[in-house]
Amino acid sequence: MNLYEYQAKKLMEKYNLPVLKGFVCATINDIEHCIVSNSIGYGPWVVKCQVRAGGRGKSGGVCLVHSTKNILSFANKWLGNRLITYQTTDTGELVTSILIEPAVKIIQEFYLSISIDRDESQIICMASTQGGMNIEITEQKTPNFIHKIVINPSVGIYPYQGRILACKLGLSGAKINQFSRIIVSITRMLLEHDLTLIEINPLAITDDDYFYCLDAKMIVDRNAIFRQSELLNICAINKPIDMLNFINYIPLEGNIGCMVNGAGLAMATMDVIKSLGGIPANFLDIGGGANKECIISAFNMILKNAKVQAILVNIFGGIVCCDLVAECIITALARYTTKHIPIVARLEGNNSTLGSNRLINSKLNIIVTDNLIYAIQQSVTAVNLKNVNFS
Ligand code: ADP
Ligand code: MG
Repeated sequence: MNLYEYQAKKLMEKYNLPVLKGFVCATINDIEHCIVSNSIGYGPWVVKCQVRAGGRGKSGGVCLVHSTKNILSFANKWLGNRLITYQTTDTGELVTSILIEPAVKIIQEFYLSISIDRDESQIICMASTQGGMNIEITEQKTPNFIHKIVINPSVGIYPYQGRILACKLGLSGAKINQFSRIIVSITRMLLEHDLTLIEINPLAITDDDYFYCLDAKMIVDRNAIFRQSELLNICAINKPIDMLNFINYIPLEGNIGCMVNGAGLAMATMDVIKSLGGIPANFLDIGGGANKECIISAFNMILKNAKVQAILVNIFGGIVCCDLVAECIITALARYTTKHIPIVARLEGNNSTLGSNRLINSKLNIIVTDNLIYAIQQSVTAVNLKNVNFS
């Protein structure tokens, strides 16, 4: 589960990490209140759209402003609209809040991240002097500018490791220890809060000669959410966890859209598609306990993919019921009238007969079967022979 920047920064405050005091506002009223009460100070400010994706600066979602009037016009422009960055989908992400922070004078921007290296079963900490908005270019063109240290998760980090990394970055004097303290804190934060990634880009040295974490990306291991109630409180995530976070969708190069429940079944389904001569358009695991909203959204993701020429639904109803899946497919298709795509549904497990009957009775162009191989053969045939008769 991705946190918003303002949530990540709240957690960072708890660890005494150097973040600026910001104000997060969800409405124009909130902003006017901040301005009138003068809680945001005198500016200049940096105003930042809160979306769970980076690349905002390059897309106009982060802006330096010198007047409260410009804060309001930025908010009027973005609140309720969608921000598209190179890290979002083509439709972008809805901006529901804006973070207002004091603008600082940046002398140098560093990149710092800590994440889990699953191949090595270690924690890996990466840092570079080439931080800021072009880190991807640095990674591709000058990987030697990226320095790494490996941290054993069962031992944790030693301050000397932070100092080694600081020296590799060419830091000197008091900054070596300041940097090392940051590394020690973010490692503790990662371990104590079941995070899989913390990325601070930029970690900036400002004109007062201190480090500040100006941006923060954090991913929480969603399987550990149940034991992270403190994290949910700190981040003020008081609404129920958005089930949409549990959809795993990865677009691929093929033309058979797949909706499957369970990552293992999804991978096996893709293998069989390949072995029968087809190419999957996506990996999609709707998760074990998917609800209605989740299934409809998942199906819509497939429908929206222009490359998809046939859809294969492969559901093994364990927790989820097949009749719910059928109902969701019917609902999604009723809203989608632009093109007719052949659909093959294999429903097995909980309420499979009920689900199959719903699809058959819907009179939609759907082949319903309980046989996986047959289902996949039909979807491969559908894309190979575009004029195949599905009626
Ligand atoms: P993104 O990574 O999504 O583009 P950032 O939060 O990193 O968004 O902001 C983009 C750039 O804006 C940063 O690289 C930094 O140069 C600048 N910036 C961000 N916050 C501040 C701030 N409080 N003061 C001055 N500059 C800032
Ligand atoms: Mg950034």
